[in-house]
Amino acid sequence: MEHAPNIRAVRELVSNWRRAGHTIGFVPTMGALHEGHLSLVRRAKAECGRAITSIFVNPTQFGPTEDLSKYPRDFESDARLLASASCDAVFTTSSEEMYPEGFVTWVTVEELTKGLCGASRPTHFRGVTTVCSKLFHIVQPDKVYMGEKDYQQVTVLRAMVRDMNMPLEIVPCPIVREADGLAMSSRNAYLDPSERKRALALSRGLSRARAAYASGERTAKRLEAIAADEILSVDARLDYATVVDGDTLAPLARANDKAVLAVAAFVGKTRLIDNHVLGRPSPVPSA
Ligand code: AMP
Repeated sequence: MEHAPNIRAVRELVSNWRRAGHTIGFVPTMGALHEGHLSLVRRAKAECGRAITSIFVNPTQFGPTEDLSKYPRDFESDARLLASASCDAVFTTSSEEMYPEGFVTWVTVEELTKGLCGASRPTHFRGVTTVCSKLFHIVQPDKVYMGEKDYQQVTVLRAMVRDMNMPLEIVPCPIVREADGLAMSSRNAYLDPSERKRALALSRGLSRARAAYASGERTAKRLEAIAADEILSVDARLDYATVVDGDTLAPLARANDKAVLAVAAFVGKTRLIDNHVLGRPSPVPSA
């Protein structure tokens, strides 16, 4: 696997691939890689001539009181995992290179970023859309593989790509879970053993709500309460449990097959998110 350690190197690498006629699949990440990330890399490799992953802990998507400085970083382990998933190259960069002095340009997506995580993390999506816009211009991929674990993020980025006529396709990929149902996340590393057990309430609540949906329950408030009660029962701090339209992310009063039940909660100090598309048949893939 090749390592492009800066923007100039990755531009050169990708343009060589292009000249050789390869299509390019791209997986943007913040590192601390796990099987969820690797599922995206494998799909990129299966569908494109070359697969490239970026690792960059993007400071602009963290709020002032969030976990930027302690976010897990382990390049050696990440590189090994990427090589094992047959990734062709890894691109790394730095805050200084991405946001040099004088940086003043921001990309924002409206409406879709107001609710769910956007309500409690008001500057988060501006950071995500700005860094992804930069990464897409730098790497110039044909397809970008993103996890539905961050359902709002994929929806926001699809809108950005559509509205800005970026010549690439966003490919949403299913959530990869631990054997017991917990959605894989780099932030799971923060959980102590007791929190790890309590964190299961998110996926358990979603599964119960989906079972209720499958039995005919359509009232959003009731489905939300099923998930919320489960989460609150383990002494987690609920941020939201909301049924939204799968395309517009608008809250729904009645659920339908495209509706998504999305949850976010703090278990201890760790903020976790998860979601289920209510009409999608289970089981959700696990690692
Ligand atoms: P992150 O490193 O957390 O910024 O995530 C990078 C990409 O991996 C994003 O597209 C995430 O949605 C995706 N991802 C993270 N966790 C999972 C998971 N459990 N299953 C599938 N994709 C995931």
